[in-house]
Amino acid sequence: MRAKYRSEREKRLRPNGNTQYIPLKGIYADFDKDPYVEPGFTRPALTEKLDVLIVGGGFGGMLAAVRLRQAGVHSFRIVEKGGDFGGTWYWNRYPGAACDVESYIYLPLLEETGYIPKEKYAKAPEIFAHCQRIGRQFDLYKAALFQTLVEQMDWDEDARRWNVTTNRGDRLAARFVIIAGGILHKAKLPGIPGIETFKGHSFHTSRWDYAYTGGGPTSRMARLADKRVGIIGTGATAVQAIPHLGASAKQLYVFQRTPSGIGVRNNQPTDPEWVKTLKPGWQQERIRNFTARVSGRQTDVDLVRDGWTYIFDDSEFRRAKTPEEAAELRQLADFRKMEEIRARVAAIVKDPVTAEALKPYYYQLCKRPCFHDEYLDTFNRPNVQLVDTDGKGVERITPTGVVVKGKEYPVDCLVYASGFEVSSDYTGMLGFDIRGRGGRSLRDSWANGPATLHGMHSRGHPNLMMFSTIQSGWAINFVHILDEQSQHAAYIIERCLKRGIEAIEPSEQAQQQWWEVILGRLKMGSALGGPECTPGYYNNEGAKPGPNEMRYASFGGDTLAFIDVLRTWRQGEELAGLELTRSLG
Ligand code: NDP
Repeated sequence: MRAKYRSEREKRLRPNGNTQYIPLKGIYADFDKDPYVEPGFTRPALTEKLDVLIVGGGFGGMLAAVRLRQAGVHSFRIVEKGGDFGGTWYWNRYPGAACDVESYIYLPLLEETGYIPKEKYAKAPEIFAHCQRIGRQFDLYKAALFQTLVEQMDWDEDARRWNVTTNRGDRLAARFVIIAGGILHKAKLPGIPGIETFKGHSFHTSRWDYAYTGGGPTSRMARLADKRVGIIGTGATAVQAIPHLGASAKQLYVFQRTPSGIGVRNNQPTDPEWVKTLKPGWQQERIRNFTARVSGRQTDVDLVRDGWTYIFDDSEFRRAKTPEEAAELRQLADFRKMEEIRARVAAIVKDPVTAEALKPYYYQLCKRPCFHDEYLDTFNRPNVQLVDTDGKGVERITPTGVVVKGKEYPVDCLVYASGFEVSSDYTGMLGFDIRGRGGRSLRDSWANGPATLHGMHSRGHPNLMMFSTIQSGWAINFVHILDEQSQHAAYIIERCLKRGIEAIEPSEQAQQQWWEVILGRLKMGSALGGPECTPGYYNNEGAKPGPNEMRYASFGGDTLAFIDVLRTWRQGEELAGLELTRSLG
């Protein structure tokens, strides 16, 4: 099996790594247009002084705003590209979009808002509505600047503020800036030869064109009834969209490069009797319990008990006496669980050739595990055809269709389920420059790779707080990390405002010490996308990271250990590792 996995990986390694993808710029800029707002929005430009500017109105930005309010900080603005709150859940409205992590732990602030999701795995419209609920309940709408992009950020050393300009002409002078720009937020296209020649209709999954397809996220797409549709990609997004496309289109071609592993979903409506048993504090307890389980910690109970906790269940190899024995048992458990995934394909998909092509041959965490109960069965429909490219990818796109192994598949509509940019150019991903002390850009400061304290602060860029995965926490339930980062940022800002501290920035030594912590974690290895994995965004498309890229690593492994670092820091010597500039006034 090891040899099979290796050969499947080698088949897919390509010299162009991340550069195989096309960003949505230039002739592709139309793919990035917001289809959910009325065109022609205008508003007067603002000139304001603020305590905090938050960049991003997804869960990260919203949680930051909520935690600031709870800390008594109310002078803030949220700048957001979309036409509403929601981030990922604003953009991703493709049919079948749903949360893969249990909704009772993924949707934040359930106890605070008094809301209980309708199902164990909430669908996208419900999650988007929850974002709006948070916006209303915490009075965030009045702070929001939607359909607005930050263009430039300059640190003003005399005023000790960030001067921020936007594409709407705003001039915002903020004491602190929180960047909650999200991860996996910039859609990308596959750099397939001929892509620019396609004459049919096409769009990316994160900008679903319901005007063309008809229907909505949960209803049949009636206008596809006479259409031949192609979808490129079979990642977590495609897995959710394909059953709906299969049910709506006259003909559906699914172009596959690497199959996803599809575990059991078993979604259930929320049991009202269970809801009655919930005691105050239940959500935080459940969130921590899940993160502990998927961080490899032992707990008395597994409260969530789903596909994720099953994957991370290591009870089998806890009895190992040596690390070598543990590694061997872990690998055997992985083979066995992937064998279950492959057996499920064989049991559901009737055509044996299609079934074989849908079987994933790699370790469980090489690619994002998926969970779905209708995806595989969709390939039993007479109008759905899997076009497997045997790891090579689509050969060519023509004005009228898609070519694989020399054969053209004619399509009227082409859907790109090709994922999102992953890059080690942090400011490039944000789309604006951050010029810190002395006008030095963050890009220059990080020319040899990022240097941070807790992944949040960076020397030379005072009062800037970044929420990202760079030298910071990573979690299966990512909202958990965002909330911890939010609480941390709100604590620091509240302390500074209260104590007349006008500027903070990490000391050289604190950054160095933090890097040593990250290095130590790196040596322990990461659960995701190891070097022997099939290529994908988890492992930099299979390319070995250089020394600078290595510095983009997350605090690997145990997520709760990262959270404990932040919590312990807040309980220890006040603002340790940060150099403070106090107000003279
Ligand atoms: P992915 O990056 O996971 O998938 C992109 C797909 O496009 C892959 O199947 C890739 O193949 C394929 N592809 C790329 N280039 C070509 C080509 N030239 N020819 C054929 N196929 C090609 O993006 P997704 O949008 O699916 O998911 C991104 C992430 O978003 C997920 O990993 C997950 O973290 C999150 N997500 C979460 C969801 C949830 O919670 N429910 C739902 C959806 C997404 P290959 O694998 O070979 O590279």
